[in-house]
Amino acid sequence: MSVALIKELVETPGVPGREERLRAVVRRELTGLVDEMRVDALGNLIAVKRNPGAPKLMIAAHMDEIGFIVSHIDKEKGWLRLQPLGGHDPRHMVAQRVLVSTAEGDLPGILFPGLKPPHIASDEDRKKQPQVSDFFVDMGLPGAVVRERVAIGDPVTLLRGFSMIGDGYSAKAMDDRICVYILIEALRRAQRFGWEVYAVATSQEEVGLRGALTSAYGIHPDVGIALDTTLAVDIPGVAEHEMVTRWGGGAAIKILDGSFIAHPKLTAALRDIATRRGIAWQHEILPRGGTDAGAIQRVHAGVAVATLSTPTRYIHSSVEMVHKDDVEAGIALVAAFIEEGHMADLALT
Ligand SMILES: [Zn+2]
Repeated sequence: MSVALIKELVETPGVPGREERLRAVVRRELTGLVDEMRVDALGNLIAVKRNPGAPKLMIAAHMDEIGFIVSHIDKEKGWLRLQPLGGHDPRHMVAQRVLVSTAEGDLPGILFPGLKPPHIASDEDRKKQPQVSDFFVDMGLPGAVVRERVAIGDPVTLLRGFSMIGDGYSAKAMDDRICVYILIEALRRAQRFGWEVYAVATSQEEVGLRGALTSAYGIHPDVGIALDTTLAVDIPGVAEHEMVTRWGGGAAIKILDGSFIAHPKLTAALRDIATRRGIAWQHEILPRGGTDAGAIQRVHAGVAVATLSTPTRYIHSSVEMVHKDDVEAGIALVAAFIEEGHMADLALT
């Protein structure tokens, strides 16, 4: 396990549509491991391990993270107003630091809602729940300086460094950089390639699985596997039947989410391989939300897909946390599927 690479992946900023800094990291890591790499018009990085005549396996992990772009700059005070990209929960946005990525470099700022602090709030004010649109960024600079340095459309991401906490890895953007990491490590670990493998670091997942759709269309795979984080709400205040997955309980083999229903024979094959090789796994059913598999499934005449998820606590916050054993299980299962998944019978009768 390379903690340094996980740290680099989560700390590199990349909102939907602006994944170029992630592409550079992934390209560097995959050089020498694959036969060919290309970037399509949506910014997907497609790495190919050639195996002519073998069925095509597409494995997708998205590079983008939820964030914002600057939509307005206040003339006097320099407050930045934001257009959100992806599903933000305003309760997780309060009192965060952010990074504004400008043409000249990254600048720090404070993300805060435009609401009265308790000291001066009336009873009525105190009842107000902040909405995403209430938030602004304070750059700590005069308006004229801000307007000189920051442009409309500049990306804004949460600023929270990687941290090891007990058995966990915590940071912003663990969704889905931990799975970009799993994808890289699985390609390194696989001993043989039963498929022609298309490892795709996808773009724009958080705004509707957009990169996965075009890359899958171009590749036309026989089988697609999406790698993504999922909820592990095994925490106080949530009933056991609603936890979705258990943190540290192994790689999660998804049955369905809001975007797709997994191919039953493909999920059976994944469970089978995991069990045979002694890799910890668990079922997952996610009532709402989607993964790249939902897009890959629907290209051409349809593709057999599944999603392997990494259980994640505090998802879509700046302290997303995964368990190191689940990361290891994910790498082992993806590598095993690259080696022998092509032998599974996926025909539906
Ligand atoms: Zn994700």
